[in-house]
Amino acid sequence: MTSSGRRSRSWGRPEVSDIERRIEELKAKAANCRACELCETRTNVVFGEGNPVTPLIIVGEGPGATEDATGRPFVGRAGQLLDQALRENGITRKHVYICNLLKCRASIIEGGSVRNRPPRLAEINACLPWLQQQLEIIQPLIILCLGGPSANIIIHKDFRMTKERGLLFPTPYAVHAMAALHPAYILRQDGETFQAARASLVADIANARRKAIEAKKDVKLTLF
Ligand code: URA
Repeated sequence: MTSSGRRSRSWGRPEVSDIERRIEELKAKAANCRACELCETRTNVVFGEGNPVTPLIIVGEGPGATEDATGRPFVGRAGQLLDQALRENGITRKHVYICNLLKCRASIIEGGSVRNRPPRLAEINACLPWLQQQLEIIQPLIILCLGGPSANIIIHKDFRMTKERGLLFPTPYAVHAMAALHPAYILRQDGETFQAARASLVADIANARRKAIEAKKDVKLTLF
């Protein structure tokens, strides 16, 4: 990450233009995905956005109503909280890539209104190849999972947020993966619990940023 958000690639990866082209091609393919039944109810595929030439990728659970309507990840209330927590660490969306485990909204009609629901395993499995390809193209150094479902898939299947939040795990897709509380979960807390959960998200992002900078230096050193 550079402070200006300028796209630089200095850890022996493919050319920037190649990464950008490949991610755009993948996005175009994902726009027509019909791998699960969520394609019937989605408005837009929420593929992901930001800087694909980044050492730090953030992976949430799946789009909500605002994301489905706009086709952009984390643009509702949870996204505003995420943006604040990033900003408190000097990070903007130009510095990181943000996407989700699921690219389409998982919803249910209850009492005449459409509500979000947790993703089903079959939906996660159907969608996973998109995330895997995003990670293969971007080759981040650090993956920050937001919430349990993302950590269960990327870190390990028995991941427990209460015990393992903020810890670093090896992963085939990056030097480390770690998990933080999901901003939507934080928004459901009140008073001091809310403040503590919000502070933990800011601290976990700070740690992820620090580890990304360290990993970038290490990769440079091991090239020679
Ligand atoms: N929650 C998520 O996990 N992802 C989004 O994009 C929005 C809300």
